[in-house]
Amino acid sequence: MERKALVLFSGGQDSATCLAWALDRYAQVETIGFHYGQRHAVELECRQVVLDRIKAQFPAWAERLGPDHMLDLALLGQISDTALTQHQEITFKASGLPSTFVPARNLMFFTFASAIAYRRGLRALVGGMCETDYSGYPDCRDNTLKALQVAMSLGLDAPMVIETPLMWLDKAQTWQLAEQLGGLALVELIRAETHTCYLGDHTHLHRWGYGCGNCPACELRRDGYEAYVKTEVV
Ligand code: ZN
Repeated sequence: MERKALVLFSGGQDSATCLAWALDRYAQVETIGFHYGQRHAVELECRQVVLDRIKAQFPAWAERLGPDHMLDLALLGQISDTALTQHQEITFKASGLPSTFVPARNLMFFTFASAIAYRRGLRALVGGMCETDYSGYPDCRDNTLKALQVAMSLGLDAPMVIETPLMWLDKAQTWQLAEQLGGLALVELIRAETHTCYLGDHTHLHRWGYGCGNCPACELRRDGYEAYVKTEVV
């Protein structure tokens, strides 16, 4: 059977790298995105740009890249009270989790993705979750996703694999992975066309890409890019 994957693609650096990773090893790759009232909805506008640029610049990948699925999860924005969906400061809460944590977000994303994957005959779900992020979101952890993989495979009565190629990489290594997969052309595409900033700032262009430069997501992206560039010049 041909290997087919569905990539959770938000338009950010991590999921764009995952998309390249999947295009490198699966015969057919489709993408899925979610609209849930996120403040950084500009990320969603980057999705189509990145998809178009990949098709134009990487012909071998263009042949494998199938339809994009966009799901409206406005309900998630309504039921969660967080800094990603409301105008709140980004702080750490008593639970030790940052206020950007949207409870159960990734569980829902994967569950909806599995329903689409099942219908489309795709048997791998690829996501950019990562345990090395500062945030420590519990629904991004390896064990959470392994448990979810088992639950989905049982619940669908069909094998469903969750792939998380970035799980143990830091942000500099994520840039290195992009370079291994698609050379400097892919690094530049991700740098210039993806969006990471929590505040949705897509007007200030820095060496490491667009963003406010001050929120935790921007700091992480900047530090990772600077560490990656350092390893390049030596
Ligand atoms: Zn920012």
